[in-house]
Amino acid sequence: MKEEKRYSVGDIIWHSRYGMNPTVKTCPICDGKKEVTLILGNGDKVILECAYCQRGYNNPTGTVTVYEYIAVAEQRTITAINSVISAIGEEREYKCGYDTLGNDDIFDTEEEALARSRCKAEEASRNQETKIEYLKKDKYRSFSWNAGYWLRQIHEAEKNIERWKEKAKICEVRSKGTKVNSEMGERNERKE
Ligand SMILES: [Zn+2]
Repeated sequence: MKEEKRYSVGDIIWHSRYGMNPTVKTCPICDGKKEVTLILGNGDKVILECAYCQRGYNNPTGTVTVYEYIAVAEQRTITAINSVISAIGEEREYKCGYDTLGNDDIFDTEEEALARSRCKAEEASRNQETKIEYLKKDKYRSFSWNAGYWLRQIHEAEKNIERWKEKAKICEVRSKGTKVNSEMGERNERKE
């Protein structure tokens, strides 16, 4: 935390912040192919939709948006001051139009403000990297979970198909039975 300096309404200060520049990149998991191949323990291969470049329930896009964080310093004029005085002292917040700026982000010179902005941009970039690494690991885990889920669903559906085939066969036999009887009846009638 930087040393507290008291500013007044009307003072022109340098505000330290970072900007975000979005860049569309090829998905690092599926390499733009929108699907991944999972090799099971028994050597079987399962192809799954890439969950990393999928947004919600939409189809995978093969791309992801990553941010480049840029250090910014801009001149602002203090328009109001919020002050809270308590047992630990006075805490001040500076208003510049609609924005509220903390004391840590206000500087007298552009150089000082940019130095802090660079630190903040680097930290945001590191956080993004950590989040990406975490998401990748999480998606790798979910792929094997998803493969397990879909294989179980397929197994279940196959069992259902067998059951339905059996039922259809029984129905067919029953309806044929009636037909046969009526044919036999007709034949019998003709014989008589
Ligand atoms: Zn992908």
